[in-house]
Amino acid sequence: MPFSPITASPGKAGRLFFACAIGSVCTVVICNALQRPHSSSAVKDDAPAVSFRQTAVPSAAPASAPPAAPPEPARMTESATVDGTFSDAAQSLGLDSSTIATLTQAFAAKVDLRRDLRKGDTLSVIYDRPQGGATPHDEPLAARLTTGSSSHDVFLYRDAEGEARYYSKDGDSTKPAFTRYPVEFTRVSSDFSLRRLDPVTHRWQSHDGVDLAAPIGTPVRATAQGTVTFIGRQTGYGKVVMLENPPPYSTVYAHLSRFAKGLRNGATVARGQVIGYVGRTGWATGPHLHYEVHVDDVAMDPLTVDLPGDDRLRGEERQRFAKEAESLSAELSG
Ligand SMILES: [Zn+2]
Repeated sequence: MPFSPITASPGKAGRLFFACAIGSVCTVVICNALQRPHSSSAVKDDAPAVSFRQTAVPSAAPASAPPAAPPEPARMTESATVDGTFSDAAQSLGLDSSTIATLTQAFAAKVDLRRDLRKGDTLSVIYDRPQGGATPHDEPLAARLTTGSSSHDVFLYRDAEGEARYYSKDGDSTKPAFTRYPVEFTRVSSDFSLRRLDPVTHRWQSHDGVDLAAPIGTPVRATAQGTVTFIGRQTGYGKVVMLENPPPYSTVYAHLSRFAKGLRNGATVARGQVIGYVGRTGWATGPHLHYEVHVDDVAMDPLTVDLPGDDRLRGEERQRFAKEAESLSAELSG
């Protein structure tokens, strides 16, 4: 699916003469598109606590063990019934906010937590609780979110730096990967900049994206999975597609000559899927793709912004992980 981009030389010369006219106003457009109200059925900030099931699988030494033996953690499985938000349910299981954020991101790749979560769905977690009880426990080793008749599992993997990441059972990352470039381009015809002389409006303004020069009709691909939040024409942008990608990302593809057939507002697109074709609609002085990446609604330089890569586990590590995940999955089902 990933296509190999042509690495363009920076091509600084003449870049101001072959550019488009997109001002900072575009940021506002994206912000509005993303300010989606929470689903009323799934979100209640003052939701009462959830119901509880707790099964302890003690792996600790018996009480009569010699005092010198270090205490073994007890492996716990706990479940909460969703009565408010995902975060309420996770909190009721004693998870801290950073763990909840990590889990939210892991499940967000599989479930729309704002729309698909219903009262009565369940969240189950497995973790090793240190004996003594006072210390808050670590990230769960595994978590299962059961929504309606389907369930979604994620499993903990700690990378070399000790950072907790969640994977699917077979070792695929739950973080969706991004491709750096949406198009095979010949050169970067205008860089991202906070202030430049716009070639069309002849005013100083920011350039919230990067211009990638390519012949008219070159396919433009979604750089990550996402949902179409806008498809149509806008002043400046011309024919434009906007995608809401997995949080905190959103992307914009402008000056298109035409859209991919059948692409509609609200449609889901996969990474690498063709969404349109390079053109020069809107304020463009030549054929190119104007491409923006927003992080938490702030425009970032698409050529340098930090993007999640394809960090699936490989080789022996993947096999070992899958085996452990299999046994944790059986515990969640038990
Ligand atoms: Zn541009």
